[in-house]
Amino acid sequence: MILLNGKSLANEIKDNLKEEISSYHRKIGLAVVLVGEDQASHLYVSMKKKATEYVGMESISLQFPEDISEEKLISEIEKLNTNSKVDGILVQLPLPNHIDSNKILEIVSPEKDVDGFHPYNVGGVLSGLDTFAPCTPVGMVELLDKYEIDIQGKNVVVVGASNIVGKPIASLLLNRNATVEICHIYTENLKEHTLKADILVVAVGKANLITADMVKEGVVILDVGINKVGNKIVGDVDFDAVSKKASYITPVPGGVGPMTIAMLLKNTLKSAKRRDR
Ligand code: NAP
Repeated sequence: MILLNGKSLANEIKDNLKEEISSYHRKIGLAVVLVGEDQASHLYVSMKKKATEYVGMESISLQFPEDISEEKLISEIEKLNTNSKVDGILVQLPLPNHIDSNKILEIVSPEKDVDGFHPYNVGGVLSGLDTFAPCTPVGMVELLDKYEIDIQGKNVVVVGASNIVGKPIASLLLNRNATVEICHIYTENLKEHTLKADILVVAVGKANLITADMVKEGVVILDVGINKVGNKIVGDVDFDAVSKKASYITPVPGGVGPMTIAMLLKNTLKSAKRRDR
């Protein structure tokens, strides 16, 4: 079994970006919009800020109180859309209940949508266009490529059908000619499906959802889940038992997670280059 080391690949990518950005003719800016006091969101935003500054980009942080109106938030994002110093805009999710997240994601200019959540970019990914794709799925594809794991013709089973992970990774792997199946909460007999997987992607948020009897020998596992069990962070896969059958597996933490931020920075550089064309 080989560990898919997302942490070291993400560091390698960030170092390459840092070098490229050091000779870029202008400062590149990434704006992060944070609403409310959600602890996890604050942690993610501070990690993104640190990484943005590490590669030499400008981190522009906008923080708003929990009770900001939808109208005010929209007007703040519109200002970022027209601010020439901003190459990428990221709205940290989740937003408070009184704000319609879909409406907000549609306000972000598709040209600066480095998270790949605008419907224009969602459609682009589905059509196989060179657009902004969501960072976690793109990071998973980079990991597979780094370890030279074949995708074409493989049976891929994706467990979890969110807009952020499940659906876009299914599209990206379909675009690479895999045979893709998506399982979700209404899937009957999950094991019947997961046993067919050459590559199993699990993005649900339930510790130990995937056990050793649910996978075949030699499977490649991409475990996206982040679950707190006691004071440990674990994925959705029973790592100790499943890793004995897997050929490759991502650890949690240190697998898929670090790739997400690296891809965000990569998308931001891509946006800057496009805007400068
Ligand atoms: P999400 O929006 O809650 O989606 C979870 C998906 O799993 C939904 O489609 C849900 O169906 C489905 N599901 C729930 N229980 C299931 C079950 N027993 N069997 C099969 N499918 C089931 O979550 P997400 O944003 O995709 O995130 C999933 C996990 O990945 C979370 O632990 C999250 O923290 C983690 N994550 C990690 C990263 C990273 O960078 N490493 C990035 C994003 C997310 P319903 O919607 O019908 O309930």
